[in-house]
Amino acid sequence: MLIDLADAKAFVQSELPLLDAEKLPIADSAGSVTTSDIISGEFVPPFNNSAMDGFAVFASDFAGESTAEDHRVRRDLVVIGTVAAGDPRSLKPGPGQCVRIMTGAVLPEGTDAIVIVEDSEVRQTGDGSEVVRLLGPVESAQHVRRAGEDLKPGDIAIPAGTELSAGHLGVLATLGMETVSVRRVPRVGVISTGDELVDDGSPLQPGQIRDSNRIMLLELCRQSGFTAVDLGLVPDDEAQIEAALVSGARTCDALVTSGGVSMGDYDYVKSVLSRIGDMRWMQIAIKPAKPFAFGYVDGCAVFGLPGNPVSSLVSYELLARPALRKMMGCSRPDRLSMSAVLDDDFSRRPDGKTHFVRVLLSNGADGTLLARRSGAQGSHQMSSTAGADGLVVLLPGDGLPRGSVAEVIPL
Ligand code: AMP
Ligand code: MG
Repeated sequence: MLIDLADAKAFVQSELPLLDAEKLPIADSAGSVTTSDIISGEFVPPFNNSAMDGFAVFASDFAGESTAEDHRVRRDLVVIGTVAAGDPRSLKPGPGQCVRIMTGAVLPEGTDAIVIVEDSEVRQTGDGSEVVRLLGPVESAQHVRRAGEDLKPGDIAIPAGTELSAGHLGVLATLGMETVSVRRVPRVGVISTGDELVDDGSPLQPGQIRDSNRIMLLELCRQSGFTAVDLGLVPDDEAQIEAALVSGARTCDALVTSGGVSMGDYDYVKSVLSRIGDMRWMQIAIKPAKPFAFGYVDGCAVFGLPGNPVSSLVSYELLARPALRKMMGCSRPDRLSMSAVLDDDFSRRPDGKTHFVRVLLSNGADGTLLARRSGAQGSHQMSSTAGADGLVVLLPGDGLPRGSVAEVIPL
């Protein structure tokens, strides 16, 4: 019986173990997932400072003067000094005075507005002092960055379950953190199975093909941020398949196998896993990637992907990747899907399955996302899937005509 993709996903994700926490230097933490909320212990910015190069003034000096013209005729301020970013001095201008200030410098005591350098004219007076004539309007708080405007002590800077980006590393550094508590990334072992497969570059003998899934799945794991472990190519032999699975389960958090999980006579992955593991064999109502297995061997999660390369890739994306990201504690394990306008006819045969059509994406003249088929759609035809940007989701039925809007899962 065919089951829905949503049910298969729910089953896979129902009892997934959460990987342990570890402390990492923040520089090594990108791509890892936070175990708890990161709470700010400080004001960011730590002090009131200037957002622009210019002059720090008292906005009250300009009360009631709303036009630039007013300022030009009335306001000549004496410049009592200069503060640059990092300068610890606190200059104290009085009425009719101002301070030349650089971006990031501490706001001089009492001042509350910055007039940008572009709106000023500076001249020297006879006694060697500097006077500035301000040419722009002055409002309280203009170009001033207040202490704590970004974060205050007690604020959640980064929520638990966040996959750390380059920007997050910047936030951690801003808060003065040297290490961060994240979940370990999963070690994922990848195994290819099949008597027909070779991987040594030798000329193909009759009936042989080259193992393309393993290198692809290893790279998909790496790109997902996991540690990928090559567990090799195993022939259709029960003892060798069992040995590979058992030793893989000892050293990895999860195993991804390809091939041998469907209904064929030599699908030994299925017979071995049924014996040594706690597995569920599924036929999912999707195309490609109908056969799929999930379960555990000695506590190690096992994803049994179909052997056809396109099916392998699609079931990795739809089922294995989100589950492994969930094991990392990720609060958003799935890719965000988007809408695209179909630039081809996407009619299909009604067969009760949801089709995932490989597409190339582009932007139309008005910026609309357009999707067209990336080429032949057979589950063995990897070359047209290789460069695809996404999967258009076609629900059971007749498909969609050109010009329709459809959901696309980016790859
Ligand atoms: P299976 O799931 O073992 O029945 O394999 C389905 C199809 O995928 C067969 O045509 C296999 O030859 C092919 N296949 C299985 N594993 C691989 C692999 N690692 N690389 C390329 N093709 C494969
Ligand atoms: Mg096989």
